[in-house]
Amino acid sequence: MMTKVAAAGAAGLVAVAAAGCGGATEEADGVSVVTGVYPLEWLASQVGGEAVTVTNLTEPGAEPHDLELSPRQIGVISDADVALYIQGMQPAVDDAVAQQAADSALDVAQVVELREVPSADGGGTDPHMWLDPQRMAEVAGSLGERLAEIDPDGAAAYRANAQRVADELGTLEAEYTERLDDCETRNFVVSHAAFGYLADKYDLNQIGITGIEPDSEPSPARMAEVAETVREQGVTTIFTETLVSPAVAETVAEETGARTAVLDPLEGITDASPGDDYPSVMRANLDTLAEALSCS
Ligand SMILES: [Zn+2]
Repeated sequence: MMTKVAAAGAAGLVAVAAAGCGGATEEADGVSVVTGVYPLEWLASQVGGEAVTVTNLTEPGAEPHDLELSPRQIGVISDADVALYIQGMQPAVDDAVAQQAADSALDVAQVVELREVPSADGGGTDPHMWLDPQRMAEVAGSLGERLAEIDPDGAAAYRANAQRVADELGTLEAEYTERLDDCETRNFVVSHAAFGYLADKYDLNQIGITGIEPDSEPSPARMAEVAETVREQGVTTIFTETLVSPAVAETVAEETGARTAVLDPLEGITDASPGDDYPSVMRANLDTLAEALSCS
């Protein structure tokens, strides 16, 4: 680039291009979005399209709640045009955004209302908003507007992409509403209580063996309580997930004669995920739920 500009022989251009080159060594061309969890990575890729580079700070297969950031990753956050994150989900990301990227922050908790967690499940707000397609659609709209501000040339494309994603999410939402309308039971047992948005929305009762954080070890008393609920309510299936050890769920299943199945909280896509992107995993979850709850 320097050579070309020097050959053009315009001193003014050299100065401008030199400044541009200095920037180019640190960040890729185009607009960049950084996020900490797979569903937001998917959303940003859909809304941004090819014009936007999306980085997910959580490695594939890693559990995102207790993410720790390397200095290089903190650099990625401070360089990004948009830091798309959910305040309260990943403390390391919250801190890095507050210190390095306040101007580029797009906090999902400011776009949609996060549900409150019952104190029995740990209290606070529930970060797993991506399991609600409608909230995801709202975030798509917000991100589309933010990208349009940053890159006005692409504004029409970002808005069209956001609308397309919102329509797709609306279709998904309608499928959930229809399939979960008439079920023999509405109780379901999961490892960590990640499915509160689905439960609230579709009038289901989530029983989490552990609370909102996947790594807390349930007490024997809690295990016994869940097993009793399973027997009393005739729960047929204990759900395990892809990124958390199934041991606890399997213990409850063995004790009660229930079977296990995978309900994926979509905290990451792995080889074990029942599908290869957000919509396909959401649809696999819907099939699994509808079967376990004997929905007609
Ligand atoms: Zn979670």
